Amino acid sequence: MSEIIDHLASLTGLRDRDTLDVSLAHAMRDFLAPQRVAVYRLVGDQGEERWLTRAALLADSPAATADPAWVDLDSLPRAVERPTWLECLTTGKIIETRVDGIITTLFPVMSDTGAVGVIEIQNTRGIGTKSRRLVFGVLRIYRNVQTLLDYSERDTLTGLLNRKIFDDSFYKVSSLPLLDAKLDEGERRHASGSRYWLGVVDIDHFKTVNDRFGHLIGDEVLLLLSRIMRGAFRFSDQLYRFGGEEFVVLLLCNDEGDAAAAFERFRHVVGEYPFPQAGKITVSVGFTAIEVGDTPAAAFERADRAVYHAKHNGRDQVSNHAELMRKGIIEDGTRVSDVELF
Ligand code: GH3
Ligand code: MG
Ligand code: MG
Repeated sequence: MSEIIDHLASLTGLRDRDTLDVSLAHAMRDFLAPQRVAVYRLVGDQGEERWLTRAALLADSPAATADPAWVDLDSLPRAVERPTWLECLTTGKIIETRVDGIITTLFPVMSDTGAVGVIEIQNTRGIGTKSRRLVFGVLRIYRNVQTLLDYSERDTLTGLLNRKIFDDSFYKVSSLPLLDAKLDEGERRHASGSRYWLGVVDIDHFKTVNDRFGHLIGDEVLLLLSRIMRGAFRFSDQLYRFGGEEFVVLLLCNDEGDAAAAFERFRHVVGEYPFPQAGKITVSVGFTAIEVGDTPAAAFERADRAVYHAKHNGRDQVSNHAELMRKGIIEDGTRVSDVELF
C-alpha cells in the first residue's frame, strides 16, 4: 500500500512529461512485476501516424529506454503496423493476446481529448481483475496530471506551448547533444551533425487586421496560423505562442540551409493560405542557431533582431541573424548598421 502511495505521490508531483511517462512505466513494473512494460504514443499528422516509444522497461533493467526527443518520424513504426495497439486505442478497451506463453495486455492511455496511446504489459499470467482496476486508477491519475500540465503550459487560444515553459525547453534542447552520449551507436550517428535553431515569427500588419475586421477575426487568424505552423514544421519541433501575434519555433536541423528552408517553406504556406475574411496574411521570420552556453534571452534577442531587419526590409521574408552578421548588416551587440538597414 505504501509503495502505491509513494508512486502516486511522485506521479502527481511531476512537471515534466518525459519523466511522467518513465515514472508511469516504473509504477506499473513495481505494482505488477511483469517481464516488460512500455508506454507508446501515437504521433504525427492524421493518416501518417506513428508509434513513439515514451518509456520501455524490462523486469531487470535499471533505467527505461525511449525514442529520442527529436527522432525522425519516418523511422518509427506506422500506426497500422501494430493493429492490436491501434484497436486498443480506438476502442478504448483492454486487449489481451498470448504468444508462446507470454501474455500481452494493452491498456488505452486517455487524455481529455481522447485516447493518445497505449501501455503494454507482458507477463506469463495475464493481468487479473484487481490489478486491471489498479492500472485504470493509475491511468486516471496520470490523465489528470497531463490535463493540469496542458493547462499551465499551453496557450488557450491556439493550444501551442506558452512562454512560461520556453526557458526550460530551451535549456533541455541546448543540452541534448550531451544527453546523446547515452544513446546507442545508431542513434548517436543519427543525431550527430544536427543543430538546434530558434525562430521568431511575427505577423505583418496584424494591427490592421484587427482594425479592419475586429478582434474575433484577428483571433481566428491566430488560430489558423497556429494550425499552419503545426502542418509546416515537424511533430518534434516545438511551437510556442509568445503572446499577441508573436510565435517562436525551436527546431532541429542539420545545417543553416535546411533551417532557412524550413522557415521559408512556412512563410510561403502562410502567404498562399486563403484566410477567410482577412484574405492574405504574411509573416516576417528571424532565426538564429542555438549556441553552446546560449541563454534563452540572448538567442531570442538575436532572432528578434533578424525579425526587425525583415520588417524594415519589406516584411513577408525570412531573415537569418548569422547571415546579417556576415554581411555586416547587423553588428555585434545591439548596434544596428543603419546605412544598410533603411
Ligand atoms: P508589424 O508588421 O510591424 O508587425 O505590424 P503589426 O501591426 O503586426 O505590429 P504591432 O506590434 O504594432 O501590432 C500587433 C497587434 O497585435 C496589436 C494588437 O492589436 C494585436 N494583438 C495582440 N494580441 C492579440 C490577440 O490576442 N488577439 C488579437 N485579435 N489581436 C492581438
Ligand atoms: Mg509584434
Ligand atoms: Mg506584427
